[in-house]
Amino acid sequence: MDNIENNEDSIKKETENLKDDIKKSEKRLEEIQAECNHPESKIKNISNGGGEIAKWRLVCTTCGLVTGHPSPSALDEFMHK
Ligand SMILES: [Zn+2]
Repeated sequence: MDNIENNEDSIKKETENLKDDIKKSEKRLEEIQAECNHPESKIKNISNGGGEIAKWRLVCTTCGLVTGHPSPSALDEFMHK
């Protein structure tokens, strides 16, 4: 009984630590992306997969930030490359 509670405690503690780390990492990522000049973007599918419809966006090749939508002609060219 004690072991199970201890296990749940440690899981809870670790998940909270991980969530905290994720938050800090996301904040740092935003800071880095804000400093980037986005010198070059490429068309990339940013959908999560799993049957989700493809989401084509312009993504900075340096920091990975979505910088805009590709024009229909640019997307067409990309798809037929
Ligand atoms: Zn960038």
